[in-house]
Amino acid sequence: MQKTIALVAHDHKKPDLVKWSLAHRSELSKHKLVATGTTGGILKKELNLDVHCFNSGPLGGDQQIGALIAEHRLDCLIFFWDPLNPAPHDPDVKALLRLCSVWNLPVACNVATADMLFTSPAFLEADYQQNIPNF
Ligand code: PGA
Repeated sequence: MQKTIALVAHDHKKPDLVKWSLAHRSELSKHKLVATGTTGGILKKELNLDVHCFNSGPLGGDQQIGALIAEHRLDCLIFFWDPLNPAPHDPDVKALLRLCSVWNLPVACNVATADMLFTSPAFLEADYQQNIPNF
């Protein structure tokens, strides 16, 4: 089953995301990929896959991905945010992570978690039903 997967990395974490994405290119190629602007541009080139690019994160890209979550149009977020450097759009970062919790969306914020998510039968099996809270 094709999922929609969002990929986002802050500047110091982009090399980690490129390396991780190349290692999981085969699985990623089965799905619809979306990303914040700069991350998406880099991944398109490195993976040679179609990636829908939203605005750059500081210009609203995180919020556009948040809107997908609120509309139940996203299945998974890989978000390598930078814990060591402040970003001008920190409130947007927090809002994006908050929506993942609100809607029980699988989110990986580091390489180890992303590896586990992408090798989990629960993620790979087509019949896994993510529980969407009913508010
Ligand atoms: P970018 O945005 O992919 O445009 O760099 C990422 C972010 O800062 O959220």
